[in-house]
Amino acid sequence: MTDLLKNPIFQDETAAREWLEARVWANGRVCPHCGNADQEKITKLEGKAHRPGVYQCNEPDCRQQFTVTVNTVFERSKIPLTKWLAALFLMTASKKGISAHQVHRMLGISYKSTWFMMHRLREAMRVGGLMPPMGEEGGAVEVDETYIGRLQGVKKKRAGAAHKNTVLSLLDRKTGKVRSFHVANATVNEVAPIVRANISKEAHLMTDQAKIYLRLGAEFSRHDSVNHQEDEYVRRDGDTVITTNTIESYSVFKRGMLGTYQHCAEKHLHRYLAEFDFRHNNRIALGVDDTDRANELAKGIVGKRLTYRRPNRSDI
Ligand SMILES: [Zn+2]
Repeated sequence: MTDLLKNPIFQDETAAREWLEARVWANGRVCPHCGNADQEKITKLEGKAHRPGVYQCNEPDCRQQFTVTVNTVFERSKIPLTKWLAALFLMTASKKGISAHQVHRMLGISYKSTWFMMHRLREAMRVGGLMPPMGEEGGAVEVDETYIGRLQGVKKKRAGAAHKNTVLSLLDRKTGKVRSFHVANATVNEVAPIVRANISKEAHLMTDQAKIYLRLGAEFSRHDSVNHQEDEYVRRDGDTVITTNTIESYSVFKRGMLGTYQHCAEKHLHRYLAEFDFRHNNRIALGVDDTDRANELAKGIVGKRLTYRRPNRSDI
């Protein structure tokens, strides 16, 4: 970590920009306006008349200029790239997450700007809709619903989870990777479309005894459930271990950690889930170290500008 802090990308804007360029454009520069990737039709603009890092697209119908941050979560930000990269490394290296207050104090930028930066970085951690299905070739996929935090405006009752946010998590046992979703409630209407879209029909589905999985389970090559109400958590069938313990231990961890984000509003929950899933899916045990994880996140910044506030917002 000491060596990492000495890295010029946290001190020098040119070093920071070149670090980002090497990752976003790992396969060569691409014009974000027209998609031109012909290196002979892209010119670097040099000299005093230009900001550093500006390129000119020479595609006749385009002719626009761009930098590496156009069409990324960093676009139009007034925060120096050195600070963005410091926040990126802090978030990817903190196993349990890091608060906006802490990052604000460490980087010396306003709390409000830090909060926005961190949400944009979470957005970059969110995986798009083009992922291959889980449980291909008959692999086991564990499915679990968990309840987190407190819904705004819903009274807390002594029992039940009606006042909490519902999160559905899926775990592919072969890859060790997870996907989490914030759903309105744990009903077939909410859960089935997510399960169908993310899990291969060849998969071996493993759930608890919840009724929502009765019919849905029949759509997969095999479905087994463990009966938590009767204290059954693990069952063996030959070489197959039937359990949802793996995904549940992840859910417990995630719920505990989300507790530290005390003001996690419902509308942002999906982004916190993306942050936890991202770190879990890029963890040391899967051979991903801190540097690899930062590289992975840098690649994720493209094409994900946040739109929940005015897209042209330029004060952060
Ligand atoms: Zn272009």
